Amino acid sequence: MIEGGCQCGAVRYRVSAADLKVYACHCRECQRQSGSAFALSAPVRSADFALTGDVGVWSRGTASGARTACSFCAACGTRIHHQSSAAPEWLTLKPGTLDDTSGLFARAHIWTAHRQPWVILDPAVEAFETQPADLPAWRRRFVEAG
Ligand SMILES: [Zn+2]
Ligand SMILES: [Zn+2]
Repeated sequence: MIEGGCQCGAVRYRVSAADLKVYACHCRECQRQSGSAFALSAPVRSADFALTGDVGVWSRGTASGARTACSFCAACGTRIHHQSSAAPEWLTLKPGTLDDTSGLFARAHIWTAHRQPWVILDPAVEAFETQPADLPAWRRRFVEAG
C-alpha cells in the first residue's frame, strides 16, 4: 500500500499498487502549477485510489480539447492529483505528496520544448518535445510497461 497526503495533513490517500511510474512535464502550465521548473505525475487507476479529507477542485481546458480537473487540499492548497475528462478511469497523482519519495525517478519527460536549460536530461530516458499524440493511451502503456 502506497500512502501520502498534503502539507497540513488534512488530506490523506492510499494507492493500491505495487509501485508507481513517474514522468516529468516541463510545460508552462506545470511550471506555474508547481511553482517550479517542471511537475511530476504518477498515473494511477482511479479504482485503486482512496482519499480522505476535503479537496477543492479547479478545472482547465487543455490543448487536446479535454478538461483536466485539478484536486487540492481545501485547507493548505497542496495539489494532490489531476484527472482528465478524456480518461476518467485514471488519475495523475502528484508524487511529491507521497510519504516516501525515495523511489521517485522520472522515466519519461514531456514538453521538453519548455524545459529550463539547466535541467539536463539523461538521453537514455524517453522524451517528447511536446506530448504523445494520444496522451491517455501513452499513459496506459507507460504504466503497463515493465
Ligand atoms: Zn492540507
Ligand atoms: Zn504539463
